[in-house]
Amino acid sequence: MIKLKTEPREHRMIPMGLSPEILLGLIVADGCAVDCGWAGVRLTSGTDGRHNPKSKHYRGDAVDMTLWSRSNDRPERGAYEPFVGRLQARLGPDYDVVLEQVGDPPTVWVHLEYDPKGR
Ligand SMILES: [Zn+2]
Repeated sequence: MIKLKTEPREHRMIPMGLSPEILLGLIVADGCAVDCGWAGVRLTSGTDGRHNPKSKHYRGDAVDMTLWSRSNDRPERGAYEPFVGRLQARLGPDYDVVLEQVGDPPTVWVHLEYDPKGR
């Protein structure tokens, strides 16, 4: 099940302006999360948020997400690795799936972007 970020201290994530390609990627990602034993993905950023100026987020060709389950909404980095591998294999080379983290203790998320190669 796809959830949207709803933390009180943050703005609610509104999935506006996302490309059809990235929406398809998000649906596949949610299925991969369930296959890996999670309840789904939590969409934390689309065209909103702060990213580098050339980021595909601003064009609607990238999203950030975390994994969630009813008992653990903040899984550690290691929990993401099977999910990232499976998602990249399913989406193929026109998508980039990148495990990212900042801070200590780390905040971990998956950046997914549609980046067609050779066109
Ligand atoms: Zn991102």
